[in-house]
Order: sequence, then structure tokens, then C-alpha cells
Amino acid sequence: VPQDEGNYYFNSYASSDIHQQMLNDRVRTEGYRDYIYENKDVFKGKTVLDVGCGTGILSMFAAKAGAAKVYSVDNSDIIEKARENITENGFENVITLVRGRIEEIRLPCKVDIIISEWMGYFLLYEAMLDSVLVARDRFLAPGGILAPSQTRILFTATNDESFLDNNIHYWSDVYGFKMSSMQQGVLHEAMVDFVSPDTIVTDTVSIKDLPHQTITIEGLDFVTDFALEMQRDDQVSAFVGYFDTWFTRDGQDVPLDVGISKDELKKHRMNGFTTGPVPTAAEETHWKQTMFVLEKAIELKKGDKIRGTFYCKKNQRNPRALDLRIVYEVQRVQKLESQEDEKADLK
Ligand code: SAH
Repeated sequence: VPQDEGNYYFNSYASSDIHQQMLNDRVRTEGYRDYIYENKDVFKGKTVLDVGCGTGILSMFAAKAGAAKVYSVDNSDIIEKARENITENGFENVITLVRGRIEEIRLPCKVDIIISEWMGYFLLYEAMLDSVLVARDRFLAPGGILAPSQTRILFTATNDESFLDNNIHYWSDVYGFKMSSMQQGVLHEAMVDFVSPDTIVTDTVSIKDLPHQTITIEGLDFVTDFALEMQRDDQVSAFVGYFDTWFTRDGQDVPLDVGISKDELKKHRMNGFTTGPVPTAAEETHWKQTMFVLEKAIELKKGDKIRGTFYCKKNQRNPRALDLRIVYEVQRVQKLESQEDEKADLK
């Protein structure tokens, strides 16, 4: 678990604006709310732990759904606001606030349900899941539920020209000056932005499945082989990563063939949401998508494949950051004469 230098991380959660940004993300907040309100029978009479309660929103959903006791833990100054919010809404008898790091605080008992909104960019940025897994191992009663119960990192590819214009080509003419050095930063760091679904040119694959009941902190660093197949003749200018989130009634794993569409969720009596490319603003989340821009776009034909390996591990110096590396090669259906196999290593 990251040992934070100073209090930089928790201070970043102290002010109202970051919490308003999260609350305003309706896909996110309503995703949690709908799970809790649609499963009142699961929450009724239970003891709940809210890891990183922020303003106290998830704790109040749980209390309103009939939880007998909610412990709301946060190590940021925001918890003083949560205290007022909880009193203002008359939940002070149900909800108990505990200020401190979840790794260090004490609770009087084990809990039946852990709720937490810990997801970061590309799911794992910020490494808050590590803290939730510590909470699971310290406080969740046998057979207890983690909500959400599962997440998955998805991977695909795009040819998004307006993104390139705004972020890459932009630097070749800034008020008449060239600024290629700025471009380099963009090419070596993942970028967070919205990708339009009609710019996606390959199929989408899962590169990491995280069943929260059983996954370990060591399991959050991963290496996965992938193969993406072109769905049309087009260029690939960037890889795209994002995540899907599921809530199950019993905290059990989601079968691999269950997707995230509204119909599928309903059919399996689950809740969830995607942070993937979506057609309308109403479906977008504040996590947007994560883009890995290629130094040079590749021209491909329908059926061509991009095969490679995705490496993800915590940065050694700053364990809340991620070192991501994508090694790939192109396999063309029709090999053009004089064309060598292209290989590349994107870091
Ligand atoms: N649950 C709220 C806030 C989510 S933001 C909501 O859904 O709107 C995540 C919160 O978790 C932040 O307020 C942060 O301070 C807190 N947090 C992160 N890691 C923590 C840890 N190890 N111990 C205690 N609080 C933590």
C-alpha cells in the first residue's frame, strides 16, 4: 500500500470541487445508487463499511436503503463536511464517521458489505484499490459483499483525427512557433480524453479481469497478451483503454460472457456501468478514456491484426502512478511486397 509522502494525496480530496465533479458524474453516482436502492433486501439490517466516504454520499444511500450500521472512513479533511452532511440528513444514529487511513483505523466489528468508489483513470491509477483490498482482508466478514464486485480493463484502437489535431499536430504550429518538445511528452504519456465510438477501428478485448473477492495487491501488476482485429480499412493512430464495473447481489464473480449492456445487466440481475467510448454526453463519465498515441499512425485493412503484450505495474518512485508499456506487431492479411513486419515498443 502506497506510503504517501506528505499528505498530497489526501489533500487533493479536501476541497468541494473534486467531490462535486464526482457527484456530477451521473453514470458513476447513479450506478452506485441504483445498485443500493434496487437491492434494499441485501442492505436491510446489515453493517456496511464505506471506504473513502468523501461527502458521505454512498453511506447515505446505504443508510436510506435500510442498513443497520454504516462506518464511513476517510483520511481527508472532507470527512468534516461528511459529518455535517450526515447530521443535516438525520443519519447520525446509523452512520459513524471514522477519520484515518483504512489501513490503520480500528472498527468494533466485521462488516457485511464494503462499498467504495476507488476507481482511477485506467482503473488502477491512484492505487486506491490496494486500500480497498486491505479493508476487505481486515474487515469483511466471511461471505461478505464487496461493491462493486468486479471490474475489467478493456483495450481497443482508434483513428481519432480530431484528437491528433488538438493534441499532437497542435504543437507543430503554436502562434507560428514549433514546439516539438511538447509533442514528445504526449507521445510518451497516456492521455485522458473522450474517444468517439465511431472512431474505433478494431474489436475490443479484455486485458485484465479483477474479481474483487479474490484478487490480491500483487495481482494488480500484470502482463497480458492481446490481439486486436481491424473491423474496417482505416488507420490506427492510438490504442484506447477503459474499464467496466459490475455490482452483483452476492458479491460473486461475473461470468466471463456477461457484458455491460443494460439488457445483460438486467437479465443477470446485476448493476454496472462502462467508462468506454459512448455516443452521447449523458453516458460519459469523468474517467473518460485513456489513449496511448502511436508515434506514427499505421494504415491497415479489415481483418489485419495487431498482436502484442500489455505490461502494467506500479511506478517504483510513485506507487500511485502506473508504468504502462505496449509491445506490438502488425500481421497483415495481404502482405504487400517489400513490406517488412512492423514491430514497435510503446512505452
Ligand atoms: N465515496 C465518495 C468519495 C470517493 S473519492 C463518493 O463516491 O463520492 C475517494 C475518497 O477516498 C477520497 O475522499 C479519499 O480521501 C478517500 N481515501 C482514499 N484512500 C483512502 C485510505 N487509504 N483511507 C481512507 N480514505 C481514503
